[in-house]
Amino acid sequence: MKAPDFRLSDGRLHAIAVCGRARDRYSGRMITAQPVPILKDNYAWLLRDGATGAVAIVDPADPAPVAAAIDAAGGRLDLILLTHHHNDHIAGTDEIRARYGARVVGARADAHRLPALDQAVGEGDRVALGATQGRVIATPGHTRGHIAFYFADGGVLLCGDTLFTLGCGRLLEGSAAEMFASLRKLAALPPETGVYCGHEYTESNARFALHADPENAALRAYAERARALRAEGRPTVPSRLGDELAANPFLRAPEVAGFADLRARKDRF
Ligand code: ZN
Ligand code: FE
Repeated sequence: MKAPDFRLSDGRLHAIAVCGRARDRYSGRMITAQPVPILKDNYAWLLRDGATGAVAIVDPADPAPVAAAIDAAGGRLDLILLTHHHNDHIAGTDEIRARYGARVVGARADAHRLPALDQAVGEGDRVALGATQGRVIATPGHTRGHIAFYFADGGVLLCGDTLFTLGCGRLLEGSAAEMFASLRKLAALPPETGVYCGHEYTESNARFALHADPENAALRAYAERARALRAEGRPTVPSRLGDELAANPFLRAPEVAGFADLRARKDRF
């Protein structure tokens, strides 16, 4: 497996980019996230609380590479966080839970179709990883019970299949209005927030984004950085929320009708 890479799409080191305050940089009291590439183009995310060494895995759908990453990080696992019920996000959950004894956290609204939950959560609920609190943001649209996890201390947003780099999830169970509202909630987070989504989709999303918004200079620069990263075999995720706000057409749509039109055009693209 490739060594983890903490650089943002523009090449800055992630921990520095999202933690401008020297207090965080030198005390290490924050959440850091490392990608675990799994399946065809999914990312599971290995989170670590710098203060306590507590570890979480997000969407561990393929147990072998996920276990290898956990073992390489010291073999500790406290939490399994699930963004939504699709198999490419949950398939390895029971095997990883059995192996490490971790607690499973997922959406209360989808408890009937998720692996057994130790903590069932909804909008505004808190999830403790060591000394750090994450906040649950309900993000329906891709699925009814989709949730995101936001760790302010470290600026880490785990957004599954809701917000993608230069794109957003398909409306498989929700309306355009629901997805638009979910994206607005994520867009309101601090612009230095890191966007840790569930798939490596940047290059294919960039093709539609450039088609939809060809004159956007920030988008062109973003797409070029992503192309260069992929040419080197490096992840384009996480991105910076501020860069998504400048370049991602689905975040830039000013109202629901425009968003719905964009989403429908992308489905046919
Ligand atoms: Zn999905
Ligand atoms: Fe997915």
